[in-house]
Amino acid sequence: MLQSTDARTGQSLATSLPACGTSEVNAAVNAAQAAFDAWQDSDGNQRAALLNALAAAIEADRETLVSLADQETGLGAGRLNGELDRTAFQLRRFAHLAAQGAAFAFTDDLAVAGAPPAGHPAMMRVRVPLGPVAMFSASNFPFAFSVLGGDTASALAAGCSVVVKAHCGHLLTSQRVFELSQAVLKNLHLPAGLMQMVQGEGNEVGLLLIQHPGIAVGAFTGSTRGGAALRDASRARAVPIPFSGELGSINPVVATPEALQAGGETLAQNLAASIALGCGQFCTNPGLLVFERSAASSAFVAQLTQALAAQQPHVMLTQGMRKALDAGVQAQLQAGAKALLHEVVDSRNPRPSLLEVDASTFIAHAPLHEEVFGPTSLIVWSDSSEQTRQVLRAVGGSLTVTLWGMSQDTPAHRDLVRAAASIAGRVLFAGVPTGVAVTAAQQHGGPWPSSTEPMSTSVGDAAMDRFLRPVCLQDMPTWLSGLQGKPC
Ligand code: NAP
Repeated sequence: MLQSTDARTGQSLATSLPACGTSEVNAAVNAAQAAFDAWQDSDGNQRAALLNALAAAIEADRETLVSLADQETGLGAGRLNGELDRTAFQLRRFAHLAAQGAAFAFTDDLAVAGAPPAGHPAMMRVRVPLGPVAMFSASNFPFAFSVLGGDTASALAAGCSVVVKAHCGHLLTSQRVFELSQAVLKNLHLPAGLMQMVQGEGNEVGLLLIQHPGIAVGAFTGSTRGGAALRDASRARAVPIPFSGELGSINPVVATPEALQAGGETLAQNLAASIALGCGQFCTNPGLLVFERSAASSAFVAQLTQALAAQQPHVMLTQGMRKALDAGVQAQLQAGAKALLHEVVDSRNPRPSLLEVDASTFIAHAPLHEEVFGPTSLIVWSDSSEQTRQVLRAVGGSLTVTLWGMSQDTPAHRDLVRAAASIAGRVLFAGVPTGVAVTAAQQHGGPWPSSTEPMSTSVGDAAMDRFLRPVCLQDMPTWLSGLQGKPC
């Protein structure tokens, strides 16, 4: 049996859930396959009705869901209410996109008479849903990247069914959301197999799921190591499948001395709050600060250190993550970083830390490029704009890069923008990287190690593209072209 725990006390919670094995995974995937056969032909309004009803169901159960998730994760009612709002918003946004026919968008290439290559037959490029999705919930978003999170919403909107691997960090919340989903499916006379859930620990169930021949695509949010293992498993299958993993990211913040001076105390407070937000357990946490040596930068770092020392991070999601944070900071110190703020405490709530290192040491030491999950950040002191670009190149891949102080169009700024865009999915010119808006233009992904598929996003409207495969119809009969990308 699987036991959930209270994140604040470490005590086991009363309810336990059975660990799934091969037969439960087989049953879940078989049901998802059967449901997919019908759902892939659904129209936009049917998909929208389901997604809207799911949004309403979690809102109606808000009190219980938030209280349960708070107990299991320690994230706090304020944050969790906001996350539930975002989850409902995402479901409704994909409902809107489904109703608008976004999954059925097509490219029509009318026949051109004459010899090739200019002449060609009539062609229409449409998209079809891939099939049952294996969806791995994230530990740090019990609602927005879990059972009814963005992956599930975009997969259902695309016409796929979903088998969720629940995260052990919030098993009971996942079970409750899953039960609500099943009730919605029943009310709408839709098959229960459209959404299935399995749980287990020690990697076994996750591997069984991704290896199952009935699974057509994987979606994952979590650690680089876990994502890499599941990506490898998805490729090693007799029939390899696509796997979109959103993994680790250190989200460099690059600032000119002028920007730091202009921002002053307020900017330091905002950055400190972003580093400590949610106890630093965000994929977009600013884990690296790249500043050019100057009196203004040093003054800002003094303000930041003070602001960070005043932060009171809450408990971490799991004891494993708490230990990993201490080990990660220790590894940075061993690799040559020095502590500006670092207090080792033997408590479930960590203290924030701030370390510093020079750019050449950073570039030369790969352990300094790794994500340390928690309320901590590493300052890299750069001697020039060119060296700042070398630091970004050493980072390799990140969900975000933030550039402060780029308002003037100069060759140095253009170089920095190019360097940032070459390693990140999202480049910000103001504000902090935490907080990911769900919009049409959003890009939440990036080159390895921030994701396994740099062309895809796990947040925003384009998240649906991960579950749709292009098909070209050539010289099709008029009844088929008349469907204009809709299922036949
Ligand atoms: P995780 O260890 O990668 O686990 C996520 C999910 O993947 C779990 O359901 C886990 O199942 C499964 N899994 C992991 N490795 C697997 C493998 N080799 N084979 C099959 N299934 C596997 O992530 P986590 O538990 O959320 O957190 C651990 C660390 O990940 C954190 O300390 C942090 O560093 C990082 N993290 C990063 C982000 C981000 O957005 N950047 C988000 C969350 C976590 P089992 O329970 O069965 O192992």
